[in-house]
Amino acid sequence: MNRPHAWKPALIAILFMFSASRIKADGETQPGRDSKQAVDDAYTAKMKKYTTEPFFTSPLVNYLPASKNVPTPEAVLGDVAGAPGILPYAEDVYKYMRMLEKASPRVKVFSIGTTEEGREMVAVAVSSEENLKKLEENRAKLAKLADPRTLQMNDAEADKIVAQAVPVYYITGTIHSTETGAPTALMELAYRLAVDDSAYVKEIRDGMITLITPVVEVDGRDRMVDIYRWHLAHPKDLYPPLVYWGKYVAHDNNRDAMGVTLKLTENVMNTYVKWNAQVLHDLHESVPYLYDNTIGDGPYNAWIDPILADEWQMIGARNVADMTKFGMPGVFAHGNFDTWSPGYLMFIAALHNGISRLYETFGNGGADTLERTLEPEEYARTWYRQNPPLPKVLWSQRDNNNYEETGLLVSLHYFNENKRTFLKNFYLKAKRSIEKPSSEGPTAYVLPADEVRPTLQMELLRVMQKQHVEISRLTSPVTVALPVKKEKKSSKTADKKETKKDEKPEPTSKTFPAGSYVIRMDQPYSRIADALLDHQYWSPEDPQKTPYDDTGWTFGELYGVQVSRILDAKILQDPMERITELRAPGGAKGEGNMFAIENHAEPVLASLRYRLKDTDMQVAEESFEAGGKKFDAGTVLLKAADRSQLDGAIKEFGLQSVALGTAPNVKSHPLRAARILLLHSWLGTQTEGWWRLALDKLQIPYDYASTQTIAGTENLREKYDVILFPPVGWGGSLNSIINGLPTEWGNPLPWQNTPETPNLVGKNDATADLRPGLGWEGVAQLQKFVNDGGVFLTVMDTSQFAAGIGITTGVSTSNAEKMKIVGAVVGTRVVDGASPIAYGYSEKVPAYCDNGPVFSLSSIAGSRRRRKLGPEMSERPTGRGSKDDPDFAVGRLGREAPQEPEAESWENPNVTDEQRYNNSRVIPPAMRARVVLRYADAKDLLISGLVEGGGEIAQHPAVVDASFGKGHVVMFSINPVWRGETQGTYSLVLNTVMNFDSLNAGRKNDEK
Ligand SMILES: [Zn+2]
Repeated sequence: MNRPHAWKPALIAILFMFSASRIKADGETQPGRDSKQAVDDAYTAKMKKYTTEPFFTSPLVNYLPASKNVPTPEAVLGDVAGAPGILPYAEDVYKYMRMLEKASPRVKVFSIGTTEEGREMVAVAVSSEENLKKLEENRAKLAKLADPRTLQMNDAEADKIVAQAVPVYYITGTIHSTETGAPTALMELAYRLAVDDSAYVKEIRDGMITLITPVVEVDGRDRMVDIYRWHLAHPKDLYPPLVYWGKYVAHDNNRDAMGVTLKLTENVMNTYVKWNAQVLHDLHESVPYLYDNTIGDGPYNAWIDPILADEWQMIGARNVADMTKFGMPGVFAHGNFDTWSPGYLMFIAALHNGISRLYETFGNGGADTLERTLEPEEYARTWYRQNPPLPKVLWSQRDNNNYEETGLLVSLHYFNENKRTFLKNFYLKAKRSIEKPSSEGPTAYVLPADEVRPTLQMELLRVMQKQHVEISRLTSPVTVALPVKKEKKSSKTADKKETKKDEKPEPTSKTFPAGSYVIRMDQPYSRIADALLDHQYWSPEDPQKTPYDDTGWTFGELYGVQVSRILDAKILQDPMERITELRAPGGAKGEGNMFAIENHAEPVLASLRYRLKDTDMQVAEESFEAGGKKFDAGTVLLKAADRSQLDGAIKEFGLQSVALGTAPNVKSHPLRAARILLLHSWLGTQTEGWWRLALDKLQIPYDYASTQTIAGTENLREKYDVILFPPVGWGGSLNSIINGLPTEWGNPLPWQNTPETPNLVGKNDATADLRPGLGWEGVAQLQKFVNDGGVFLTVMDTSQFAAGIGITTGVSTSNAEKMKIVGAVVGTRVVDGASPIAYGYSEKVPAYCDNGPVFSLSSIAGSRRRRKLGPEMSERPTGRGSKDDPDFAVGRLGREAPQEPEAESWENPNVTDEQRYNNSRVIPPAMRARVVLRYADAKDLLISGLVEGGGEIAQHPAVVDASFGKGHVVMFSINPVWRGETQGTYSLVLNTVMNFDSLNAGRKNDEK
């Protein structure tokens, strides 16, 4: 390459000796500068200056190669990558990447889509000029390895391609916006890969394609840079935490690889698949100094190919080894991250036959150089961390960049050295995915054509499509054999036989109608489909006691649709066709203007309600018959003024309506397009972000305001019918919701668009100071809102908040003591199907639960269940006769003891005569809590994931409608709206909204 510096002849001779020994005795290429490589001295000097210890760098990055025509990152940054005080916007990062593209034939920039707020995402390919010229040719080769069916599964043919193809290693940066170092590290890495002529880097450049998305969360990056610049401009002030990252969610943007609801996930997914990349390596910055956490700890995800687990070990172990040899402390693998959940961005690769990787390096959350003090568990020496980080150290962004770049370079180099193995593995994993039906099963999953929730079925299929899973449809009815359930060996065989007599024999076959959807497992991406549709079991005995994330996610259960796991191989021969267009068959049938829409708790019913906002819609409170057909309670009755408008909307949403001729004679009430306020706290916006996303996708309008705003809003009831208060998440206690962050000291923390911070607000909320909470004024406004007939819907921590401010008559909440339900799918049961909240649901409703809280009922205001002292008397006292005989007192005739029937955990406790006597606190039956859903019995609680000690919450209310004044507080212990994965429970919320002024419909009150 170009050498701008004049070389002294004497030096050249000496340096030549070094370059001749580039290959080490062990046969490996020497990492580090080639003696002939010209160096950008000024840049190198600054890198050295910003590196706080000599051992925080490596021979790979302790110099910057010079180039005559390719600009260094300084051209855009004004200083070197990782310089203190410098954090570029995504736009600046792209500007630099495009300068590289212009100056070097070894760099190409591709636009890969936009974010929710319309910002661009890019992928930058760096490789030799020759490789980049043959991109399409190479892509075609990789595509064949990715789908071995195109090679007739012929290993010899595959080997020919393996020997020639150039692999793709995809690196993604700063998905987590507070982890800020990756963009500058990746700018410099791209430069090095393009210009460095050391043998080490040249091998990478010539041997493979490095693909880089320098900023994954672009919206969040720009907000973070705004905040950092504000901090620089006001160095003495505290600066606000990053309360919004992307438009919808913050840290959870790295938990979206299952549902693929965010643009960033979709864009990275499509790029990964389109490039047929072998690796997806995602960069994070929360552990000192470099934690290669891919290898992690158990339990490993049960659906990955074991070849992948070996690849994790190979690359990870070598990564640690190489950096250890460089003398860089604090580089390790393993640690406490389990790879169970496939929700992480990197897992796109793990379940699409690639290799997932993730670094946690050490970031300062900005570009300040800071004294950092570690926790003992962070600097302890452990079996997997023989060279731990230092307890206290001055740490800079440059240090972080050195670690990131060094780790990536050794990984890229090792990957390139072993690329034939990895390419072969890429092929083998795809082949084994196709062979899944015969090697391990299942053969397919079937989503039947007679599904009562076709629009939810379609939503689930759309997830499969976003995951690039092939979908087929049966062209005629098909019968498959069902697996015979093996009897468990038991010592109590005699008991079993006795109960068996009354049971119906299990069916041995199942018939699916034509039009049923089939997800065949003989396809390259069968593993992701299997992982999402299968059930999960996390044993309470597992040595891993702190699951990193959700433990269960079974999509069929959480979408509330039928999914059959098929083991019969015959189905693969049955008649079916591949389909690519997904649309639920909607339409209005019949003549007239009176229509009925059956209610099966499909969320798009609410979309229709809001779309046709001037149309009269009623909902039947009881079942009825019309035209020889039976309709269930909850059926929507619609008077269409404009038939074509109805047709259009019904079709668009995939709903079906039938003409009734005349209005049926059934008790009904209006279905309302209620005015919604979505309430958030400035303590955290992420968990409610999933709610905003759900409502936006369903095209349901709502106002969005903070607890601060409603504190100053008189007469909330005049403006709103329903206030949704989704979980606050971390720190969402009663105290913090009311008080917010401390305001008695410190300075205001503004979240506003200003010339200094132009990106902060986007289309979200703003405040001059995000510290104040709801306050007592706000509590009063909320109480008034409900008292005046409003409906307040609360979830998990906000349910505890509502109970805490005393507006949940007869319902108290508590935290479970020993129970562990870690993001799992649990069973719930409809208790009161006549409640409008339950419209469309049948008895069993699978739901997402993350440890409660536990709701308890009382029929006496301000108290929990009756206080009992001493041991419970569950059996008769010692006395005459047998166990079931009455005792008697000597000298008088026996008298029957009054029966005190015990209420179930989901029922209001009976009020005894003693309690009722002159007691102003007895809640009148019409005001007592109405339980809509309860948790299943302990033995039926677990559907998917980890449920330990579930007895604490079993049978307790899961969704309860509490009265207060003229209004209602509808409390959720489950979370019905979570990460786009729980669409089957969305309608519990939407039913509450649309029936807000008729929630007492069908209510039966206790007599006493
Ligand atoms: Zn992170």
